[in-house]
Parts: sequence; C-alpha cells; structure tokens
Amino acid sequence: MGITVWARRGPVAAAPALESDTDAQGWGRLEEEVRACVRCGLHAGRTQTVFGVGPHTATWCFVGEAPGAEEDRRGEPFVGRAGHLLDAMLRALALNRKEVFIANVLKCRPPGNRDPQPSEVAACLPFLRAQIAAVRPRIVVALGRFAAQSLLATDLPLSRLRGSLHHYEGVPVVVTYHPAYLLRRPADKAAAWADLKRAQEIATHE
Ligand code: URA
Repeated sequence: MGITVWARRGPVAAAPALESDTDAQGWGRLEEEVRACVRCGLHAGRTQTVFGVGPHTATWCFVGEAPGAEEDRRGEPFVGRAGHLLDAMLRALALNRKEVFIANVLKCRPPGNRDPQPSEVAACLPFLRAQIAAVRPRIVVALGRFAAQSLLATDLPLSRLRGSLHHYEGVPVVVTYHPAYLLRRPADKAAAWADLKRAQEIATHE
C-alpha cells in the first residue's frame, strides 16, 4: 500500500541492544508518511496526526482506538482523561509512558469522536501494522473492542475476546477494557487489572 514496512530481523531476543541507523531512518520515514497521509477523509478535519509515542524498542505496546480532541490538539495519544487512567494503569504495572509504545488504530481524530468507519480503518491500519512490525514488542495490550477487533481481524465482542491469549503476527495480544470505558464503569477495573497482570506475566516470562 506504499507504506513503509520495516522490521528488525530475527527473534525479539536477538535484537541488537542499540538501534541501528537503518531502524531509526525507517521509523522516521514512517512518521513522515503518517504526517503527510491523506488516505481517508479524516485528514481534512485534523489539527495534526497522532503517530504514537514511546521507544520503538519497547517491550510493551498499548493500542487504542483513535485520537480524541486533546490528542488531536497535542499530537500525542492518550493525554486526556482516559490517558490519565492509562498512566495510572502503567504505574500499577511499574511502567511509565516513556518506556512503552502507545498508539491508536486511527492516527486522525474522527469528528465528534464518532466510531471509526471501516474504510478509515482499512486506510490507517497498515500504519499500525508497520509500527508493531518495527517494535516487535513482547506483548500488545489491545485497549477496548475496537483495537482488539481491528488487530485480530474479528468481529467477536469484547466479552469473548477478553480472558484468552491471542496472537497478532506471532506477538501475544491481551485484550482489556478501554480506559474511557473504565472511567464510566469503575467496577470493571478489577477485571482490567487481572488482564494486565496476565499481560505482565507474558511480557516477563514467555
Ligand atoms: N482514546 C483512544 O483510543 N486513544 C486516545 O489516544 C485517546 C482516547
């Protein structure tokens, strides 16, 4: 699709400790492609694209749905209320935003935060695929139904996707609730914590 796809060669454990110039250049090109993207109509309403944040050598990758108003304004994913909860979830795992990779399925904000349309996902998903191929994390945490269904190419409901271990291109995927949902339904935080502990086990032992 004309999108830069590049990946570190070999298994995760064999990845070099220091990134090569080629890795850094490939990442920079991908960022540039996202910044210039006009593949769907969302480009017309964006303030800026929201590529993702975090090292492209991260062990953990968190995937959300799409930027909201604050993310569109600041160019960074999960910086609004849901983002504050995500930060708290990271802290509970003894992680912080600087050491994990965080991205969304869509890189541009849908108007009024409406649900992404299938054509927008089809246009944008290759960017996320390229990001995950480059990072080769030990674990992907899909935040909410939309991220899980897009990554796993399924229309199963979240209730069926949570609680099982999935794989995306050989990378383990744990599905949990979206932080925005947890803000509305705090009673489900305990279940989300169980999902995250499972992800932690996989990230550290598998
Ligand atoms: N919700 C998302 O899915 N992503 C963000 O970046 C912010 C809110």
